[in-house]
Order: sequence, then C-alpha cells, then structure tokens
Amino acid sequence: MTFLSATLARVKPSPTVAVTGKAADLRAAGRPIISLGAGEPDFDTPEHIQNAAIAAMKAGHTRYTPVDGIPQLKQAICDKFDRDNGLTYRPEQVSVSSGGKQVLYNALMATLNPGDEVIIPAPYWVSYPDMVRLAGGEPVILPAPAEDGFRITAEALEAAITPRTKWLIFNSPSNPTGAGYDRDHLKALTDVLMRHPQVWVMSDDMYEHLVYDGFEFATPAQVEPGLYDRTLTVNGVSKAYCMTGWRIGYAAGPVELITAMRKIQSQSTSNPCSISQWAAVAALNGPHDFIADNNIAFARRRDLVVARLNAIAGISCPVPQGAFYVYPSIAGLIGKTSPAGRRIDTDEDFAIALLEESDVAVVFGAAFGLAPHFRISYAASDEDLTAACDRIEAFCNSLT
Ligand code: GLU
Repeated sequence: MTFLSATLARVKPSPTVAVTGKAADLRAAGRPIISLGAGEPDFDTPEHIQNAAIAAMKAGHTRYTPVDGIPQLKQAICDKFDRDNGLTYRPEQVSVSSGGKQVLYNALMATLNPGDEVIIPAPYWVSYPDMVRLAGGEPVILPAPAEDGFRITAEALEAAITPRTKWLIFNSPSNPTGAGYDRDHLKALTDVLMRHPQVWVMSDDMYEHLVYDGFEFATPAQVEPGLYDRTLTVNGVSKAYCMTGWRIGYAAGPVELITAMRKIQSQSTSNPCSISQWAAVAALNGPHDFIADNNIAFARRRDLVVARLNAIAGISCPVPQGAFYVYPSIAGLIGKTSPAGRRIDTDEDFAIALLEESDVAVVFGAAFGLAPHFRISYAASDEDLTAACDRIEAFCNSLT
C-alpha cells in the first residue's frame, strides 16, 4: 500500500515544466542546450510594469490582500474585458489567481463531481486533462488533427456531448499548435453549445494578443451572448505582458462560480502575490504598443522556424495563426535510427534523442495528445532559433 493518494495515480507531472527543468539541469552541467521547451516570452517585463511593482512595495502593498484580488485589479480586468472583448463584467464576477493555471484548477475543483465529463480538444495544453482528473472528472478527448487546421468541427463536438458533459475547455490561439478559431469557426461551435444547456465553456484566452497576419481574436461569450451565463472567460498577463514569473491569471464568469472558486482559493493559497497584482494593474491599464512590437518579432521568428522545418525531409510544419508555438509532424522520421543508435519509434524518442545528441530541448507531441509531433516555442532569440534549426536539420539528416 502506498502512502500517496489514489488520485495521484491518475495524473502525471507536467511535461512542459519537466522539459524546462531538464534543459536547465543540463545547461548547469555545462551542456550548450538551446531550450525551445518552455512557453514564455524571452522579452523582459516592460519597465513601466516593473516600476509599478517597485512603487507598490515602497507603498507598503506587501501584506495579504482580498483572497481573489484587489479591487483595483478587478476593475482593471473589467475594463479590459469591455475594451478588448465587448464583454461587460462587474468586479464580483472576477477572480484573480496565481497564474492562469490556478484559475483553471479552481474552476474544475469547484464544479466537478466523480464521473463528470470535460471535453478537451487535442492537441491540448498538457495540464488540462490532468487537472480534470485531479478534480475527479473524466477528460473526453476530441481529436483536432493537422488536416482540420488543428480545430474541432461542430459535428465532432455535437457527437462528444453526453448528459454527463459539464465543460468544454476551449483554447484559441492554441497551446501547442498556435491554431486560431475565427468568428465563423467559433459560431459553429457555440451554435452546438446553445443546444446543450448543461455544458459550460471554459475559454482559455491566454494567447489573445499574440496573433499574426491580421487574424482577429474572438472569445465564445462575445460571439454568442447566449452563453454568457455559462462561460468562464480566462486570461492572464503572463504571455502578452511578458510576466510569466509574476503569476497573475484571472477569469470572469457567473457570480456563483466565482464565489465557489474563491472558497477553494481561501482554503489553499489565499491571495496571489500582492506586488504582482499591482504590477498587473499597471500592465492592463498602461500602454499596449509594445505588444505590437513584440508581435512583429514573434511573426518573423515563426516564419523563420516554419520555413526551416519545412525544408527538412520528414518534417511537415503548418503555419499557425497565433501564440508562439509551432507543432510540426515528424511522421516521416518514425522508424529511423539516430547516430547514437536510438530508434525513433515515437515523438518522445525523437525529443529525447534530439536533446541527448544535439542539445535542443523541445516538448514531444504525445504530451499534448496528438502524435507524432513536437512543439517548439519560438519565443527565443533569432540567433538561438537559427542555431536550433541548424541542429534539428543536421540531426534529422543524420537519421538512417
Ligand atoms: N504554458 C507554458 C507552456 O506550455 C508554461 C509551462 C506550463 O505551465 O505548462 O510551456
């Protein structure tokens, strides 16, 4: 009999966090690792946001705050939803947590009973299914393959819904594919959801501002106001504002759900970091022009990586609409053998061999529920991306 809980046997550690840690360990041991594993901007947090944090400390904002966020931040979040998404929320409909991860976790813990089903399109962000399992629910995986643009269809969604379906977790632009759903794609899905009033929508909009080639972001409650009363709209400052380490995520939705999420947070972590909350106020209320500048760099890096990968025999890489990931297929490399004698039977074998033999860290596709692929985060310098692509190309060409 194990000392650990039975629930733990149903989940695995986060592979995105694991690859980041492994790359850091190898680098500390002297290996010239290029890590394209972690999904975080390489840009520093903008100066005006850093200064707001320093000012907050000096002003004594270093104590406990209300459990799910200071009023100033909740107001800034309401203003953001109004400004960016045409969604009207009151501060009591807003919850702030230590990153988007805790928002999602609180919402699932607050709502799932044993046997409740949560529909998750695959490829999915690694933590969705395991969070559902931790909360006692059952993930129902809905494949969204590359030939469908990594998007689920209305028919597939309709077919996946059962009387036990509680949530659809929706993520556009997607981690790990960068695929975006435009208004028409979204409307087709929200039309389905309107026919199934037991299904709520958890919309993870973390990559809202990271879109390219004129792609227009939309979120379910905006496209279908009829879903407003059963949608949790989730966002955060990590990606667009280059604030991953500050750990501020937030959501808006029905008061009953937000109150339940607060109850869970009050018995676990209490408030997110007070200083980070003030920094987030400055981020949301402050200038946004740097986001467009960053996006120019991200789009250039995306184009560089997609072109380089597609030039490699055995790899095929679609062009994503947003986020800072690409999700190439390595179907053409399966069955080959690396110079050190590793057989590439799976995308995990590929990622391990690439790291061990060519010093490039990526996340293998099976972790995101669609194989054989791998994910590259191109939120890295042009030099690192070019060097990484050189190494990936040489590695793939060395396979026999
Ligand atoms: N969301 C980022 C990623 O996918 C951060 C790591 C994590 O928390 O999973 O790499």
